[in-house]
Amino acid sequence: MARAVVTGGAGFLGSHLCRGLLDRGDEVVCMDNLSTSSLDSLSGLVGRPGFEFVEHDVSEFVDVSGPVDAVLHFASPASPADYLRMPIQTLKVGSLGTHNGLGLALSKKATFLLASTSEVYGDPQVHPQPETYQGHVDPVGPRGVYDEAKRFAEAMTMAYHRHHGLDTRIVRIFNTYGPRMRPDDGRAVSNFVMQALRGRPLTVHGDGAQTRSFCYVDDQIRGLLALLDSDVRVPVNIGNPDEVTVAELARLVLEVTGSGSPIEHGDPAPDDPGRRCPDIERARRHLGWTPEIGLRAGVERTAAWFASRC
Ligand code: UDP
Repeated sequence: MARAVVTGGAGFLGSHLCRGLLDRGDEVVCMDNLSTSSLDSLSGLVGRPGFEFVEHDVSEFVDVSGPVDAVLHFASPASPADYLRMPIQTLKVGSLGTHNGLGLALSKKATFLLASTSEVYGDPQVHPQPETYQGHVDPVGPRGVYDEAKRFAEAMTMAYHRHHGLDTRIVRIFNTYGPRMRPDDGRAVSNFVMQALRGRPLTVHGDGAQTRSFCYVDDQIRGLLALLDSDVRVPVNIGNPDEVTVAELARLVLEVTGSGSPIEHGDPAPDDPGRRCPDIERARRHLGWTPEIGLRAGVERTAAWFASRC
């Protein structure tokens, strides 16, 4: 049994991660400032033995009493709609927040796991993207606030590893979806599902030919825990390499929900990457991990969850 601090623990991935850690017998200190999340995501966790919630902004100095074996840094606005609305906070949590999390891990002799992102590849010119690809990011573009914060966070994490000998992991998370996403999260899967369920038009940005590769949350959490338990200190992509266009995703959501909503094409999203697909050879080889839940099955589960809640 271990004691883990999860920053951003009330967020979509953070709350699934807290559950995954508790389910395997670990204790969890969930830290969140609730800027893009709410305590609703922790229902069933608050009051559970071994679980503790601390409301705190990790961009400010972090202090946790008692032993800590792992610090998992998941705090950050992650939906483009959120980070474009909160650019300074996004840069702060990726830089100052990562520094504070690393400092906590160092002081506790804990393992530090950084939630990085496929956004470090920017609008990629190599396809699919292996971890060795160094990316194509516009530092002054609107998405630069997220992409560059995460790139800085990776650099800072490696500096703590090399300079202080800290035990570190870096996961590059590709688009992940599933139950407990916020209905107003602004992302493709949650938007399309909510729009389909409400009989509203599905809002495809641009011509919908841009691609993404969507990973079901249970697969993502299994990969994250496998990485935490490994001794792999280089970045690892965790995502589902099944690549679809955004227009295909919209049609799939209509099929799965049986909705008669129309598909509407609006303006392209600013700075929107044209293609994205993980090369998961490293995860396969070093973690024995591959995703198991296909897009249709995952969208069915997600739509059923939203239908029962909203
Ligand atoms: N997207 C869309 N309509 C929406 C929300 C998103 O067409 O209502 C597009 C978005 O422009 C992008 C893709 O879907 O091309 C995935 O967007 P999301 O926000 O889910 O994730 P990210 O851009 O971070 O990959």
